[in-house]
Amino acid sequence: MSDLPGTPATGSIPAVAAEQRAVITARGLGVVRDGRQILSDVTLEVRTGEVLALVGPNGAGKTTLLGALSGELDYSAGTVLLDDKRIDDYRPLDLARRRAVLNQANDVSFPFLVREIVAMGRNPWVRTPQFAADDEAIAEAVRTADVAHLVDRRFTALSGGERARVALARVLAQRTEVVFLDEPTAALDLRHQEDVMRASLALARAGRAVVVVLHDLSLAAAYADRVGMITGGTLAAIGTPNEVLTAERVGRAYGLGVRIYHPTPGSRPVILPLRD
Ligand code: ADP
Ligand code: MG
Repeated sequence: MSDLPGTPATGSIPAVAAEQRAVITARGLGVVRDGRQILSDVTLEVRTGEVLALVGPNGAGKTTLLGALSGELDYSAGTVLLDDKRIDDYRPLDLARRRAVLNQANDVSFPFLVREIVAMGRNPWVRTPQFAADDEAIAEAVRTADVAHLVDRRFTALSGGERARVALARVLAQRTEVVFLDEPTAALDLRHQEDVMRASLALARAGRAVVVVLHDLSLAAAYADRVGMITGGTLAAIGTPNEVLTAERVGRAYGLGVRIYHPTPGSRPVILPLRD
């Protein structure tokens, strides 16, 4: 249980969802690619009702971890369970109904219309009772990602930030219990960064599980219930923002001196690099 970010827009969201459960559990997870050990001995839970932020330097293994936790990438050691079953034992369609993934490179080369891209998020639900909610799911996703004014544009003709929000809308339209977002804010302006994180928090508070890779440590601190710090292919720490984002740990992970600033006593940390 931890405090909420102090922004008025999130003030109405309850602190934690009534019921939390571990939906994905990784134990002793290891990933080898091209004969190199990329991830070693990662043990963590992805819980409904919360936002888990993954942070760490470039090349630390965040995207690889997201891939293994989401079942998109094979692992070589340990286990990843979705509920009580190994994630690699699920059929692709069943996985697509349980979790959605926003990949880091959302490159679509075919000039689809934005509305077509968002509608792709509904594909796993064709011929299910949930299919009836298609229009509503798409409309809500478009609204949340702030892309309503773009629906008749071609994806290939959008800016990086617009593309990122369209890709997010597709993931939201999928309406899965677990949502993986790999650097969803990287191309976004300040307001849209906050919007995406507020939407992530609202999803979590509605009972979903959100795992999000972020580079902005202050953004992670403001919105995540827990932060996992990945360094050199290992989970260096996991806990509340205040537990994980200490000056000592951040300094060691990034090789850069930082100052941790608390706008008010006990509030979530703001991480500032030390500059001359
Ligand atoms: P991050 O997302 O933290 O920046 P990644 O998970 O993308 O890091 O990559 C972690 C490490 O794995 C890096 O050293 C990267 O070069 C390596 N890596 C990523 N993808 C592959 C691949 N397909 N084959 C071999 N090595 C890879
Ligand atoms: Mg990455």
